[in-house]
Amino acid sequence: MQEWSRRYCQEAIRPGSGGGQGVDTIEKCQQTSESPRTPDRNQAIETGMILLEGMILLDNGPSTQSRLAYDQPRSVYVHVPFCRHRCGYCDFSLVADRDDLIERYFAAMERELTRLPATLTIDTLYLGGGTPSHLGPEGLTRLFAMLYTKLRPEPRAEITIEANPSDVSLALADAALACGVSRVSLGSQSLAAATLLSLDRDHTPEDVRQAVATLLKAGLTVSADLMIAAPGQSLDDVCCDIAAVASLGVHHVSVYCLTWEKGTRFESLQKKGLLHGAEESLERAMFEATIDSLAAEGFEHYEVSNFAKLGYRCRHNETYWDCRPWEAFGPGAARFDGRQRTTNHRSTTGWMTRVLEGIDFAGDRDTMTPREAAQERVVLGLRRRDGLQRQAFAASSGFSLDLIAGEAIARWVASGHATDDGERVRLSREGLLVSDTLWKEVLA
Ligand code: SF4
Repeated sequence: MQEWSRRYCQEAIRPGSGGGQGVDTIEKCQQTSESPRTPDRNQAIETGMILLEGMILLDNGPSTQSRLAYDQPRSVYVHVPFCRHRCGYCDFSLVADRDDLIERYFAAMERELTRLPATLTIDTLYLGGGTPSHLGPEGLTRLFAMLYTKLRPEPRAEITIEANPSDVSLALADAALACGVSRVSLGSQSLAAATLLSLDRDHTPEDVRQAVATLLKAGLTVSADLMIAAPGQSLDDVCCDIAAVASLGVHHVSVYCLTWEKGTRFESLQKKGLLHGAEESLERAMFEATIDSLAAEGFEHYEVSNFAKLGYRCRHNETYWDCRPWEAFGPGAARFDGRQRTTNHRSTTGWMTRVLEGIDFAGDRDTMTPREAAQERVVLGLRRRDGLQRQAFAASSGFSLDLIAGEAIARWVASGHATDDGERVRLSREGLLVSDTLWKEVLA
C-alpha cells in the first residue's frame, strides 16, 4: 500500500498485506501551465539556491530542479484495494469482503491508465494494497495485461506484488512469473501463532512457511514483513520471529512497529482499555534487537525499517526515498512529479465512480515550494543508512544541505545522533532509533 502524507513517522511507507508502500508521465500540459519565473543571480543567492557550474538552479526556470520535476517517471505504483477482511490495526484504503467490486475496479483502472499520453518505459512497478494476491492467478494476469498496454518494463525491471501468505499457491507463483513479477512482498507479520492472533491476521505460521517455500522454489525474490510491538508480544517473541524468518531464506525483511491509527478497531479497543501497546522502552529494545539479529543473519540495514541481503534492496522504495518522480494508479494512490504530490480519492467506490464518470478523482494535491521539497529530501534521505552526500543533495535539490539543515545537523552530531565527515551526513544508530523526533527540526 501506499499511504503518503507529511507525517514523517516510521510508517511513512507502511506494511499491509505485503511489503512497503509500499507511494508519472506528468502530462506536459500540466507542467507548462505554471508561468516560469527567472530570478536573477542575487535573488538565487538570497533564497539560498545554489550556483553549480555557472548555472542558476531555479524553482521554475531551466534548472536541474525543474528538469527533475519534469523527468519522466520510471516507477509506477498500482493500488489493489481488496482484502478478505480488515485487520484490526489497518486504516489503509481498501474494501474488505467486497469482491463484487472487482469488475468495476478493472473498468476504472483501464480508464485511469488513459491518463498516460504514451507508453511509459519503467524500471520498477509495485502492486500494493490491500492485497493484490487476493485477485488470484486469473485476476492478476488480467490486471498485468491491462497495465502493460501502457507500461513497458525494461528487461531487468523490478516488478513487485504484495501477497497475503494464505493466497500463495503454485498457480499464483506461476501466474506472477508469467506476468514478469520478480519480487513478492509477503505480509507475514510474524511466525508466532499468538502474535498473528493478537494482530487479527487471518493466516498461520505454517501459511508463511509454505508461501515462502513456494515463492523461492519458483525463483522469485521474497521480502517478508514483520510487525513488532504487537499486543502481548515480548522481546523474546521478537527475537524468535527474526530467527524464524531468516531461517526461511528470504532476501529482504521490512520491520514495522504497530501503530494505533485513528478510527481503527485497535484504537477503539485501546481507548476502552481493552488492548495495550508495548511500553516505549520495550518497543525500543525490540527495534534494537531486530537490528542486531538481522545484522547477525547477514541482512544490511539500509533504511530505518528495511533490511536486505546483498543486492536485494527494494529499488522501487528507493525511488520514494530519493524523491524521484513516480506514477500511481488506483484509489488512494499518490503520484509525484518532483514538485507536486497528487493523491487519488481515497475511497475505493468514490475513486471508481469519479474515474468512470469522468469527474476529477484527485482527493488531494500537495504542491511543495522548492525549499519544502529540499526539506523532504533531507528527511527521506536520512532515513537511509547511506545518508546524504552534500554534492549529490545540492545537484538534486538546488539547495545546499547546510542551508536547509545545517543547524539541525550540527546539533545531531553534537548529541551523537548523526555523523558528518564533511562530505556525507548519516544518522547514527541512536539517531535512527529516535529519527521520528528529529525531523521537526528540519521541517520547522
Ligand atoms: S491484509 Fe490486513 S493489514 Fe494488509 S491491507 Fe488487508 S486489512 Fe490491511
